[in-house]
Amino acid sequence: MSKSKLEYIWLDGYKPTQSLRSKTKIESDFEGTLEECPMWSFDGSSTQQAPGGSSDCLLKPVAIFPDPTRLGDGYLVICEVMNADGTPHPSNGRATIEDDDNDFWFGFEQEYFLWNPETNLPLGFPANGYPSPQGQYYCSVGAKNSFGREIVEEHLEICIQAGLNVEGINAEVAAGQWEFQIFAKGAKAAGDQIWAARYLLDRLGEKYGVAIEYHCKPLGNTDWNGSGMHANFSNSILRTANSKATFDTICDAFAPVIKEHIEVYGADNHLRLTGNHETQSIDQFSYGVSDRGASIRIPVVVVQKGWSGYLEDRRPNSAADPYKVASRIIKTVKSAKL
Ligand code: ADP
Ligand code: MN
Ligand code: MN
Ligand code: MN
Repeated sequence: MSKSKLEYIWLDGYKPTQSLRSKTKIESDFEGTLEECPMWSFDGSSTQQAPGGSSDCLLKPVAIFPDPTRLGDGYLVICEVMNADGTPHPSNGRATIEDDDNDFWFGFEQEYFLWNPETNLPLGFPANGYPSPQGQYYCSVGAKNSFGREIVEEHLEICIQAGLNVEGINAEVAAGQWEFQIFAKGAKAAGDQIWAARYLLDRLGEKYGVAIEYHCKPLGNTDWNGSGMHANFSNSILRTANSKATFDTICDAFAPVIKEHIEVYGADNHLRLTGNHETQSIDQFSYGVSDRGASIRIPVVVVQKGWSGYLEDRRPNSAADPYKVASRIIKTVKSAKL
């Protein structure tokens, strides 16, 4: 009888930022399909998802990937958290996504810092003082500029082995800061893959004794960039618009709902969305072609293709839940009076 290790992964109930939790389930003669993954339960009173008196929450498997660190007999099983009665738990952002036909495509640009837990500073920062100011780190090469590449390379490799649709990686503007991009057709699939990639990154960090810092402004109010998670999105209307007016109408639909978007775009975003460092202020909404100081950027390729393609919402931060981000964007795009 063969034994497989299924890592059930879910989001806890902490506010304002949910974290990943996981535990291992052994299954016999498992062939690797989602249908074979049984529902499971966990102690919600330990994750701020239930009171101690009725602590059971349910794990509903929704996506499965081969686990590259247990290759051959291991799987990552992404789960939604459900109440004991089978309804979605309030912490379950995935269940709020209204995209049943996978018409929405999302490409998330996940930024993060590799963080030394002993100095409590990014890799590349001396224990006292600061490294050279930003400028030399973005897309850099060389040991004075680029810190932690070994981890980043290994992460890229295991994401590919897991079947995640990573589109690229790059060193970012601050020392020790990096980015990966993941694209998927279907909002839920894109969210599943971002969470799986974050999970693999966190776990890889354990091996190197390096923490992954997802906070959007971990160096506080300094001249160091914060971290975002730009959300690039399209639906069939945007992809085939052939019309500037369609882009304007959809962008205009975002203007009256600034607050609703910021609510799910990650904690402490006021520290990052200041109007500096390629951001728009948190309480302003603007959009523009190639404008990296706007809330939503219209990529120049959209204009080159005669006004068809996608949009980039630059406001979501690195710690945001991609499910909630996608869910809100879909709601607003569908509300546009076309
Ligand atoms: P930049 O750093 O210039 O903002 P990136 O190349 O890092 O851009 O990211 C652009 C993202 O846009 C990629 O993840 C890509 O998959 C995504 N993207 C491209 N076309 C579409 C589309 N039609 N719908 C949704 N996302 C898209
Ligand atoms: Mn990018
Ligand atoms: Mn970036
Ligand atoms: Mn971007």
